[in-house]
Amino acid sequence: MKGKILIVDDQKGVRRLLEELFKKEGWDVKVASDGQEAINMVEERLPDIILMDVKMPNMNGLEASQIILQTHNHVPIIMMTAYGEIEVVKKALEAGVKKCITKPFDIIVLRDMVNNLISEQTA
Ligand SMILES: [Mg+2]
Repeated sequence: MKGKILIVDDQKGVRRLLEELFKKEGWDVKVASDGQEAINMVEERLPDIILMDVKMPNMNGLEASQIILQTHNHVPIIMMTAYGEIEVVKKALEAGVKKCITKPFDIIVLRDMVNNLISEQTA
């Protein structure tokens, strides 16, 4: 196992795609469909890395990341933003989000981003 990854997105198709990709890569994958669910899952079992969508019902990804980083400031979060969400990116990075990637993205780029963040953590 490469480690534990939490994938957070309200779109089932995105969750499925990323879940499949990271499982194939050897990750222990968990998924959540909104910010509140993500927070609950982090409290249950701290992941090694989180992929977080921004626009989601109940609680958005920015708010959820801010809350998670208040208690787990070391957990790397990659935020999946939409084109033009410059304010969101700014606030996310201020809150301690490590990277932002604009949707739609190449999943290979995302995979490499995850691997790089993890090797930085363990270096
Ligand atoms: Mg969304």
